[in-house]
Amino acid sequence: MMNDKIVLVTGASRGIGRAIAHAAAEDGATVVINYNHSETEALGLAEELRSRGLKAETFRADVSAEAEVQALFKFMRERFGRLDVLVNNAGIVGNNLLLMTSTEELDRIMAVNCRGSFLCLRAAAKMMMKQRSGRIINLASIVGRRGNRGQTAYSASKAFVIGMTLSAAKELGESGICVNAIAPGFIDTDMTRGLKEEVRQKLIADTPLKRAGTADDVAAMALFLMSDKASFINGQILGVDGGQVL
Ligand code: NAP
Repeated sequence: MMNDKIVLVTGASRGIGRAIAHAAAEDGATVVINYNHSETEALGLAEELRSRGLKAETFRADVSAEAEVQALFKFMRERFGRLDVLVNNAGIVGNNLLLMTSTEELDRIMAVNCRGSFLCLRAAAKMMMKQRSGRIINLASIVGRRGNRGQTAYSASKAFVIGMTLSAAKELGESGICVNAIAPGFIDTDMTRGLKEEVRQKLIADTPLKRAGTADDVAAMALFLMSDKASFINGQILGVDGGQVL
């Protein structure tokens, strides 16, 4: 059980982050639901959880903006005085062939997926090193390992997340902090709902389990990684992809 644990999930208004925040709160944690644009969804989730006696708060911050990340972690320090788990989930996708990918699109993806996750990792590490404990779970992707046609910029941003995870795990382990990443395959969320039906069917056909994953499939792995049962798991990139990586 996650009783008394303070869990911050970035990008928790929708999709995978929302499912992770939900699962952690159900398990007894106090969750902080970070969001950027989807205020109604974020406040609605917190309200739903609190109405059931669970513990949830919200904080708006664009993870790519350093001052906003500083404000988010100031809130964590002043409100709770500690941070047990950071789920570095906020992310955006870009689906364009290389020659169609503008420099602006590259910069947008890198700002959220790379700078955003790095800023949150660094701020969380600062709090956790003082406590000498903590768990950091980064959302990578299967495409950060395998690449994907039409996703050069996005795949590169997820390869960054993988490299960041491996190095941080080596550096922070001696402070009692575990850093791991989840590499989801094709998960049915707003991020993938815009894909053409033929692309969706191809992704399902490439998945040995012959279905898209759900946000709850990913949340189950995140909940395990933040639990006491995962206390010796560090520096791993864990696939939740129905075998698509094979
Ligand atoms: P999603 O449904 O599009 O949700 C994205 C979430 O990220 C939203 O809550 C959004 O918040 C938040 N977000 C985006 N930019 C942000 C920013 N600058 N600051 C703070 N929050 C921000 O995406 P998802 O499918 O749940 O994906 C979650 C993570 O899993 C991402 O890192 C993604 O790359 C990764 N992933 C997804 C898949 C998949 O198939 N779906 C596969 C592999 C990896 P607002 O709406 O409030 O702005």
